[in-house]
Amino acid sequence: MDKMKIPFNKPYLTGKEMHYMYQAIYSGKISGNGMYTQKCHKYFEEKFGFKKVLLTTSCTDALEMCAILADIKPGDEVIIPSFTFVSTALAFVRQGAKIVFADSNSANPNIDTELLEKLITPKTKAIVPVHYAGISCDMDKIMALAQKYNLLVIEDAAQAIDSYYNGKSLGSIGNLAAFSFHETKNLNSGEGGMLAINDLQFVKRSEIIWEKGTNRSEFFRGEVDKYGWVDTGSSFLPSEIIAAYLYAQVENMDMIQARRKEIWQIYYNGLEKCCRKNGVMLPFIPEYATNNGHMFYLVCTSIDQRTSLIDHLKNDGIHSVFHYLSLHKSPYYRDKYDGRELVYSDRFTDQLVRLPMFYELTNSDVERIIDSVKTFFKSL
Ligand SMILES: *Cc1c(COP(=O)(O)O)cnc(C)c1O
Repeated sequence: MDKMKIPFNKPYLTGKEMHYMYQAIYSGKISGNGMYTQKCHKYFEEKFGFKKVLLTTSCTDALEMCAILADIKPGDEVIIPSFTFVSTALAFVRQGAKIVFADSNSANPNIDTELLEKLITPKTKAIVPVHYAGISCDMDKIMALAQKYNLLVIEDAAQAIDSYYNGKSLGSIGNLAAFSFHETKNLNSGEGGMLAINDLQFVKRSEIIWEKGTNRSEFFRGEVDKYGWVDTGSSFLPSEIIAAYLYAQVENMDMIQARRKEIWQIYYNGLEKCCRKNGVMLPFIPEYATNNGHMFYLVCTSIDQRTSLIDHLKNDGIHSVFHYLSLHKSPYYRDKYDGRELVYSDRFTDQLVRLPMFYELTNSDVERIIDSVKTFFKSL
């Protein structure tokens, strides 16, 4: 009998999504910033200690809002790891920024803070750390540099919901932070995102940018008696239908997180010995960081080994995938790049592979994947 195929990801449905979406639809208020949006805002602000949050239609949108709020202008420099998703850089490039790509650590794909200071120039405006796999960057070092050179810190916390740095929730440390609720993330609404604002100077303007450059939010709170066009912006807010879907996820966050972390631990325990023996790197979680069970990955010893492993798993009906391609070598940016070698970024580009990770993965699925990985390494 053919074994059931195991996909890489399957968005989890808690069962309440349709109910809340139905309620939103029949309430007669389905545009943005209604009851479900506000319920989500309140939950995230209280649970994670963000000064203010705004739901957006994607993390990309939230990053674009950050670039506008940071007042990035042509010629400004922004430091970003090269091993990240396109949006981390694109949001700032659209404002005219020059991207200064940083390398990853050797032990995990997060930005290497040892090399960071050398990348800072008088034109540097912001540092954008990405908490890869929901595991925190070295935030004390980054915040200290930001203070020394008067830079903004914008956390790309797309993968980092409910994860912590020395007890502080990720996304609550930088001036601004962006989260994703894309269907591949721990909490999802298909497409979706959130801007977290920790620096109070940005609160008022963030609401205006969110609402097409108008002071509509103030108007609806009764703080001004008419509203109009006061700034730049766009339509960054999601409809109530999306917020209603997300609220069903939010309500079940603790359960979702607990199960994902359980799956992660089964992988780790099951693969640790085999990986060490074969020189394959496992996820590294520094002492200051927590794990939110977003991702389980391995780093093979070569691109050929990774390709063979992906093929081997595929033959066993298991869908595993590689991840980012270094942005400094991308067709869009390589001509503008200064040519520094980013050894670890390229290494993760070539050798990192992600194993299936989603709420409904059963223990026997995980065991089957572990066995398949072990069989592959035994055959080498
Ligand atoms: C998923 C992701 C994004 C983009 O999120 P969207 O919600 O799809 O716009 C950006 N950065 C990182 C690190 C991500 O993982």
